[in-house]
Amino acid sequence: MNLALKQDPAEISPKAPKLQQATMGHRFDAELVAVTKRYGPGAPAVDDISLRIPRGSYCCLLGPSGCGKSTTLRMLAGHEDVTEGAILIHGTEITNKPPVERGTSMMFQDYALFPHLSALDNVAFSLKVRGVAKEERRNQAREYLELVQMDHLAERLPNQLSGGQQQRVALARSLITRPKVLLLDEPLSALDPFLRIRMRAELKRIQKELGISFIHVTHSQDEALALADLIVVMNDAVIMQAAPAREVFETPANAFVARFLGGHNVIRSEGREVSVRADQCRLGRMPGMRALEGVIGMIEYQGTQVRITITKDDEDYTVLMDAPTYFAQSPEIGEPGVMSWEASDEHVLG
Ligand code: ADP
Ligand code: MG
Repeated sequence: MNLALKQDPAEISPKAPKLQQATMGHRFDAELVAVTKRYGPGAPAVDDISLRIPRGSYCCLLGPSGCGKSTTLRMLAGHEDVTEGAILIHGTEITNKPPVERGTSMMFQDYALFPHLSALDNVAFSLKVRGVAKEERRNQAREYLELVQMDHLAERLPNQLSGGQQQRVALARSLITRPKVLLLDEPLSALDPFLRIRMRAELKRIQKELGISFIHVTHSQDEALALADLIVVMNDAVIMQAAPAREVFETPANAFVARFLGGHNVIRSEGREVSVRADQCRLGRMPGMRALEGVIGMIEYQGTQVRITITKDDEDYTVLMDAPTYFAQSPEIGEPGVMSWEASDEHVLG
């Protein structure tokens, strides 16, 4: 089955508005142009953000609770009005179009399946609404259940399915309308950790197989790093950094991104603020390396690595060391501790 080939060919209106001219040829599946959302007086929930999502991207919107991720997603879906700015899908402005005319589809956190319909009929339902004949919509629904590996349970009711299985059905249901962009708001948060890791691999596989963009909201750094081609780190209604996962991790734009991603130490060094990855820091004073002296505050054994926290002036710094090195040094909580790092591993923060 090659669902990707069934995507509508890109259509460009001859009366293309200005915004569209800039993006002819659809290099981007989705674009936000200076988008602001105000729910009322006071600080906006989303403040003048611009973002371009290249074709076929797995994009994660990552940030702490309340930073504006869901609002951004709901504006893309058309479930929330845009106060200022424009939204484009495949180069066409859709800012004021109703949800069904945007080429987007949203998968809800609580799955929202109809309890009295089988998995198959739940998936076929969106086509029923669009007037597709029964036989045809059931055939298509079967294909999408196959895509999410649920074809063997097609006749079950939602309450005869596990949470993970219900989620696959919900995913098939949101894909059957052949969206150009699939929107997912914290889709893995209701699953246990084991299922969450399995399901995120499935999401990635399906996204690659379909070749469309997924925009996935999460507050989990691990999830974003594991999934995303493009990570968009948000804080306080604005975008802090939008870049490939590796770039965000290796060269965080500022102290917020470095701290939020975790695995970094933010240090004032030589009068500048820098970040150094915790796995590049060492415990103990090393010749030729920069150093910071404090007290060992915490030791966490994590299997292959051990995480040591050094506290200085009420700030915590982290050294990630491999287990053999840790057992050879066997530091103790409460002892003085020195963290060392190479000047060349410092990344200057903006
Ligand atoms: P996130 O998904 O990142 O946790 P949200 O987009 O849900 O953040 O919320 C961003 C801000 O907008 C928060 O301050 C939140 O309280 C506010 N907000 C969200 N939805 C509404 C709403 N329907 N009415 C008023 N304020 C809202
Ligand atoms: Mg949210």
